[in-house]
Amino acid sequence: MAAKSQSNDPKTKSPGSVTFSKAATQGQWGRAWEVDWFSLASVIFLLLFAPFIVYYFIMACDQYSCSLTAPLADIATGRARLSDIWAKTPPVTTKAAQIYVAWVTFQGYFFPTDARDCKFTGSFFYNYMMGIEFNPRIGKWFDFKLFFNGRPGIIAWTLINLSFAAKQRELYGHVTNSMVLVNVLQAIYVLDFFWNETWYLKTIDICHDHFGWYLGWGDCVWLPYLYTLQGLYLVYHPVQLPTRYSLGVLLLGLLGYYIFRMANHQKDLFRRTDGRCLIWGRKPKVIECSFTSADEQKHRSKLLVSGFWGVARHFNYTGDLMGSLAYCLACGGGHLLPYFYIIYMAILLTHRCLRDEHRCANKYGRDWERYTAAVPYRLLPGIF
Ligand code: NDP
Repeated sequence: MAAKSQSNDPKTKSPGSVTFSKAATQGQWGRAWEVDWFSLASVIFLLLFAPFIVYYFIMACDQYSCSLTAPLADIATGRARLSDIWAKTPPVTTKAAQIYVAWVTFQGYFFPTDARDCKFTGSFFYNYMMGIEFNPRIGKWFDFKLFFNGRPGIIAWTLINLSFAAKQRELYGHVTNSMVLVNVLQAIYVLDFFWNETWYLKTIDICHDHFGWYLGWGDCVWLPYLYTLQGLYLVYHPVQLPTRYSLGVLLLGLLGYYIFRMANHQKDLFRRTDGRCLIWGRKPKVIECSFTSADEQKHRSKLLVSGFWGVARHFNYTGDLMGSLAYCLACGGGHLLPYFYIIYMAILLTHRCLRDEHRCANKYGRDWERYTAAVPYRLLPGIF
């Protein structure tokens, strides 16, 4: 795999690293070197708030049958104290805390696999969140980013969902069609990930993001706990959907998946064949572009303007959002909690889209402007 960052700052020296001689501002389109106050505030907010969200949602389901307001109401009216709620939570052990601190200290900071791949800003919190090292590894065989992105969380997603289906059966003697829908639609997404694993090596997570809390904690905690909320909700609220409604949800989920897969496939095919392929049965329209990397080498690349990449600049995200909405709709309309997923995905992918476009604009300059002129919308033609 070994995607190499093209974003090493030529004039920055990181601890234990080589110093690059040439000062240059070009080739700096990846993770930030300087953090403005808004990014810093957002990072600190997320570091504090994201673990709380995970805790609150799981606690609300385990202790209050997935009611988001009941814990607050209990505390406000004195029926429960924070300590009562906390007492029912499995504790963080000292050993776990020690292992975590030791890992963060040694892996990021002091013994990087490749010091030239490290990026430091002046902000500890930003470094911690967005990662310092690009490709941390143990030897040649264990790649942290690849392992954490592609194994524990995503495998747990399916296993936890199946466990919820089993629990429903144990509790009520049958598995509802909503649980089947959630399991089937999400399993398709996970199977797709493994089936197209080589494609996944070209995603932003692997190609551009450094390995920090955002990827590590996101993969190991956020993903398995919050992507499985629909299944957990259905354990406490066994919704049986009308047949027509469930068919509609299935259709939306499959259509979303189709767009997601085909859009990603089109870009992959286009890049693999250097544009010598057919998209929707025709020779693709192309924008030739160039960029300069940090070592001042000029490179050529191509942007696809046909197929889904001619409909909107990130129609692959739109497909993903349609699928995400289907998972939530599968839980019926009785409760807010299962809809957290579509709210979260809409924020994640909109932010990701803006982050990626900022990077592409820096990387390709005028050529990117030509692309945005040819394909003016990001996610939804005519709207955004
Ligand atoms: P993309 O696969 O959309 O990759 C964006 C990159 O593609 C750009 O940085 C640019 O890279 C290149 N590119 C952009 N426009 C074009 C074009 N017109 N022609 C050719 N290349 C282009 O982004 P992601 O890696 O974020 O997403 C991949 C998939 O993963 C998406 O479908 C997304 O929905 C899904 N996803 C799901 C998540 C989840 O939690 N469920 C989380 C994140 C993503 P370059 O510099 O090479 O030009």
